Amino acid sequence: MGEMRLDPTTRAWILVESHGHNDVCEHNHDGCPFCPGNEHLTPDAIHTIDNGKGWIARAFPDKKPVFRIELDEAKQGEGLYDRMMNRGAHEVIVENPSHGTTLANISEDDISYIFDMYAKRILDLKQDKMIRHINIFKNQGRATGAAIEHLHSHLVASPVIPTRIEQEMRWAKHHYDMKERCLFCDIIRQEIRDGRRIVMENKDFIAFCPFASIFPYEVWIAPKLHNSSFEKDIVTKDRQMSLAQIMKGVIKCIEGITPHYHIVMHNVPNEETERFDRSIFKTLRQDFHWHFEIHPLAHEVIRPHRGNEFHINPVTAERAAEGLKRQV
Ligand SMILES: [Zn+2]
Ligand SMILES: [Zn+2]
Ligand SMILES: [Zn+2]
Repeated sequence: MGEMRLDPTTRAWILVESHGHNDVCEHNHDGCPFCPGNEHLTPDAIHTIDNGKGWIARAFPDKKPVFRIELDEAKQGEGLYDRMMNRGAHEVIVENPSHGTTLANISEDDISYIFDMYAKRILDLKQDKMIRHINIFKNQGRATGAAIEHLHSHLVASPVIPTRIEQEMRWAKHHYDMKERCLFCDIIRQEIRDGRRIVMENKDFIAFCPFASIFPYEVWIAPKLHNSSFEKDIVTKDRQMSLAQIMKGVIKCIEGITPHYHIVMHNVPNEETERFDRSIFKTLRQDFHWHFEIHPLAHEVIRPHRGNEFHINPVTAERAAEGLKRQV
């Protein structure tokens, strides 16, 4: 059981865990809990995608959730401090039946089903008005803390917006207020004009190393056409396949550098939330632009601790893009 505490100096909600969380159900002696035939080792599926021969992706609740749907969200004060129950949802998405693969070596068709699963789970969870944000992320490789070597992601639906997303929303709105243009659309236009930081592009998506990358070989993947919401954008098989093509290509490049990386989706918060502050974020649909961020663990990055907020990255985005392109 955990709770959330608000740091009044940063307005960041901190999740306080009593049981600690590393990764889903641990490996046990019956084999991999994510392999076909071992479904009884995981909770029942909430959603399954089938290709006619069996499941291709499965979503189920995490056995050690960091957020729980059955809790009351009741906010409590303690003097000037705020705390909240960790109400929300935490699901695991097993993304392919075969064991030990990565996005680099399954088919684009298989990857398109994963995106279909993401869109369906987000749409379903966003019907819950207590859920403010849904975060989907993948830890690939031992160094990222992944305990099971079977392709999967975590979905965390929380009653608050993660600090990093809120920061992006604020600066995107700031840019929009000044220029009436989406910050990310402007970034994409400039990257296409410049070309030095582009790793890959197709008709719909662009993959580039962000100008001020935190992680060496960091890559962002974004739609060229403006859209704030992944689940409203990646709906048709054509869009899913197009995104799958870029994702697979980028992951192949990254795996040429390191097998350890995080993939995180940055998506618009739940606009249905009753408490959604429309006065602050009323242009969210125009100013926020969904994207994936891929954070490789390639070198020892000097991680900032509080009080030392500077990240030190030894590889510039321009050199990173060149290095990544050499991997194919
Ligand atoms: Zn497995
Ligand atoms: Zn945009
Ligand atoms: Zn982002």
